Amino acid sequence: MSLLKGGYVLKEIDKEKTVNALFGSRSEFGVIRKEDLKRELLNAGILSDDPRIKLFHCALDSLADDIDEESFVSLLTYAPHLLEQIFFGNLVVPDFQNFTDQVTRIFRKTESNKDGEVASYIPQLARVEPDKFAVAICTVDGQRFSIGDCDDFFCVQSCSKPLSYLLALEELEGRVHEFVGREPSGRSFNEIALNSRGLPHNPMINAGAIMCCSLIKQGWQPADRFDYVLERWRAAAAGMRVGFNNSVYLSERQTADRNFALGYLMKEKRAFPAKCNLLETLEFYFQCCSIELNAKSLATVASTLAFGGTCPLTGQQVFKSEYVKNCLSLMASCGMYDFSGEFAFSVGLPAKSGVAGAVMVVIPNVMGICVWSPRLDELGNSVRGVEFCKRLVDNFKLHIFDTVPSLSLSKIDPKTSYFEQDSSWKISFIWAAAVGDVAQMRRLIARGANLDAADYDGRTALHVASSEGNEAAVQFLLNKGAAVNPIDRWQNTPTDDAFRQNRKDIKAILLEAGGKLFSEIGENEHD
Ligand code: GLU
Repeated sequence: MSLLKGGYVLKEIDKEKTVNALFGSRSEFGVIRKEDLKRELLNAGILSDDPRIKLFHCALDSLADDIDEESFVSLLTYAPHLLEQIFFGNLVVPDFQNFTDQVTRIFRKTESNKDGEVASYIPQLARVEPDKFAVAICTVDGQRFSIGDCDDFFCVQSCSKPLSYLLALEELEGRVHEFVGREPSGRSFNEIALNSRGLPHNPMINAGAIMCCSLIKQGWQPADRFDYVLERWRAAAAGMRVGFNNSVYLSERQTADRNFALGYLMKEKRAFPAKCNLLETLEFYFQCCSIELNAKSLATVASTLAFGGTCPLTGQQVFKSEYVKNCLSLMASCGMYDFSGEFAFSVGLPAKSGVAGAVMVVIPNVMGICVWSPRLDELGNSVRGVEFCKRLVDNFKLHIFDTVPSLSLSKIDPKTSYFEQDSSWKISFIWAAAVGDVAQMRRLIARGANLDAADYDGRTALHVASSEGNEAAVQFLLNKGAAVNPIDRWQNTPTDDAFRQNRKDIKAILLEAGGKLFSEIGENEHD
């Protein structure tokens, strides 16, 4: 171990490995261009304004364009763990560029959907440009990507509800559910209805969110209370700008008969905590709905939830992980208005949407996503927001139950590098054929393995099984419909292999199934 500049302890071995991985062996180090180093970080999704590498960038900027080994090793000390993760491809989404290329493709496809209308219950929302569209992502390792109108600010509206719930949980140390239920209501988000205990059904609908607001810093001055909430939003968003839209707030307050009715109903049922000031509580709730973020900062908030309450970009623990778990459970069952059950079924991720068109999606332990597009469907969810999420889980193994065995291997797992995904099952399948493990081949096929997959040398399972004389595997592959005459890089078919190895039984099986020697195959006959 050596203690290096910046006070970090960097294991000698890690430093050595990093240098070797990037530049060949230490003795061949030579120099590296500053631009190449910066590009390496950007490709991994580590942006230059990342607070974790601020000092690294300052130090880098002070160096000449060509960096020698000594300077490079001293640079590593500014963020050793993160830099090592980047250089070794150990971030949670190892092939970030590939992943974001796919996300861009999904974004473009979703963009053409112009269905739905913007919310019009207040003029400030009705005036928003309907075709705005942004997607932003922040992984639990702080890899970031954004596309579209991702710098435009919008009010969070109901996306404030998860945070208000978390703050209420913190305040009451888990006794929140003496004041609010945790079942989906099965009714509209602002329905004038309470559960059988006379309490709001859950914190993700208006009555429940109003109740949560009543529990946060009760007794504080309204301004201090609101500052406190803003501060927590800022911490969850890694210190990014969190604004407030006063005209939205004033309009919300003026057109709030429904929310007042909910408030009075709960008051009449004595559902609020003692000494609750109803008017102040409602105003506080409207203020929370009028908080403004953009797609980038809301994705960062979502990533803080994905990371169990710790902001990936600052390392600050903003919420207790136990409460985050509670919050994600309710987002999963109640976060998408009357579409929550359908969303849980088809997308299978905790999410919360708001009437300004934002959808905040949390992929626990992987990433937070914000989709913002103001046109809403009849249930109040962003049309493109829902479509984007559906397309995302169609392409990637991200639905919470995509872990169930026997689901297709064709879906990409962004947590695995593309190289690994493509090769690991292929190797297992071909290996199983080589040793005649038909049960394992059957299992891999059930998970989507391709019978005709070939390795780097063009060798398929049938080649290997024929060459090794594994009759059961050959028969199994042919019965399943594997191609009989694939050709490897040395121009061998499985029949060539069986002849060469003098596997009589195998030869007979292959010939029966139409197997041919390479020399017998015509130009256009190759499988
Ligand atoms: N301010 C809105 C209300 O309370 C929030 C609506 C929403 O985003 O669901 O009616």
